[in-house]
Amino acid sequence: MERILILGAGIAGLGAAKACKEKGLEPVILEQRNDFGGLAGNFVIDGFRFDRFVHFSFSKSPQVLEIFNHSAGDILTHVPNPYNIYHRKWIKHPAQNNLFPLGKDEKDKIIHDFLHRPQVDMSQISNYEQWLRVQFGNYFAEHFPMVYTRKYWMCEARDLETKWVGKRVYQPSVEEVIEGSKTADTPVTYYAKEMRYPKHGGFRAFFSELAEGTDIRYNEEVTAIDTVQKVVKTSQGHKYPYDHLCSSIPLPEYARLLNDIPEDVLKAIKQLKCTSGYHISIALKTKDIPPYLWWYIYDEDILAARVYSPSLKSPDNAPEGCSSLQMEVYCEKDQYTEDELLAGTVGKLIEAGIIREEDVLFTHVGFEPYANVIFTEPIYRSRKVVRDYLSSIGIETIGRFGEWDYLWSDQSLLSGLKVKV
Ligand SMILES: Cc1cc2nc3c(=O)[nH]c(=O)nc-3n(C[C@H](O)[C@H](O)[C@H](O)COP(=O)(O)OP(=O)(O)OC[C@H]3O[C@@H](n4cnc5c(N)ncnc54)[C@H](O)[C@@H]3O)c2cc1C
Repeated sequence: MERILILGAGIAGLGAAKACKEKGLEPVILEQRNDFGGLAGNFVIDGFRFDRFVHFSFSKSPQVLEIFNHSAGDILTHVPNPYNIYHRKWIKHPAQNNLFPLGKDEKDKIIHDFLHRPQVDMSQISNYEQWLRVQFGNYFAEHFPMVYTRKYWMCEARDLETKWVGKRVYQPSVEEVIEGSKTADTPVTYYAKEMRYPKHGGFRAFFSELAEGTDIRYNEEVTAIDTVQKVVKTSQGHKYPYDHLCSSIPLPEYARLLNDIPEDVLKAIKQLKCTSGYHISIALKTKDIPPYLWWYIYDEDILAARVYSPSLKSPDNAPEGCSSLQMEVYCEKDQYTEDELLAGTVGKLIEAGIIREEDVLFTHVGFEPYANVIFTEPIYRSRKVVRDYLSSIGIETIGRFGEWDYLWSDQSLLSGLKVKV
């Protein structure tokens, strides 16, 4: 039988394994961690379960929904109610059409600049900063999304191109902005109307069924790939021969996994940029936390860009009578010490009176080296150069970091399901 090797037991790798098994093949997955799920996986400490960053499903793909529904069983449905913290004030999301809590001066500046926003033909816009100024006006662009871009995308808005934006950033009308400055009673305009989450087992329960009966070799970090001999080597010293290789390993990793990469491919790899970040998880012995599923933070002295509550996603994520939060800090590894991270996140929530120190049972700091790919100008050409080269030497690349795209979990799953075997 053809030997199929899949690298990575995230949702894409598990999707690829499902597609292979449906064709009667027996794939083997190599996974560096001791668990499956990748970025969409989770970890449990003292009865508290934390996903790795926020994670809800808003998939509309029938193929994905069939898998998710079957695997998860009971599913909770939430209407999104995100909020923002700006100058320590709670503002409903999206902020521009919910300005009600701001002072008069600031509302006037935002509305003035919105009404007088630069009139530029959208086809002339070459970067995200210009896009923000044209969509929202200067004052709002400079005080909200441009600040948030620095915290979430780890770069300046002018360094991003704009094709990725799509429906992800809400573009309100003049009427909505003016109405939202007068009243707190505004409709929810978040781009997804409904967020789904498994009742039990965390986000990965949506696809945990795919891991059952699949041959996953854990703690097998791939350290080298010999595409001539068709052998994958791992940190355990094991060698896995293959006939077909499919990989969800992030594209930049091939610079160290392969020998003799052509110069132009190495150059293209160097141009692929991504964010990385820490999740700071907080276990609380109270249920008294903000009622919002997630919130964005614009204040720059608070290191986190975003906070969400695992226990609001599902009560199954925390023991009875308890609750939990997780804060997302996007930065380079070791950019901050653990003490600095905790002071700039948990410490700030305590200072602001959002949680109480005596309620904190424990905190946990985890790091993810690959979070979001960054849409700088060379991304499209560079990822094509790298993927075409890998394909030419027999490595099929799948998933968020194999396609090097802004893929949600359902899209990563579909990417794996399409494996060419
Ligand atoms: C902040 C954030 C929030 C998100 N929120 C949502 C959301 O709300 N809803 C949603 O649908 N999606 C969300 N996503 C997207 C979702 O997480 C991804 O689409 C999905 O998890 C990607 O799956 P993957 O299998 O492609 O990659 P991964 O999950 O990264 O899987 C790759 C696997 O390969 C393994 N691996 C890497 N290198 C090696 C090696 N050398 N040897 C062996 N194994 C290796 C990794 O350990 C990992 O298990 C979010 C992503 C981020 C960053």
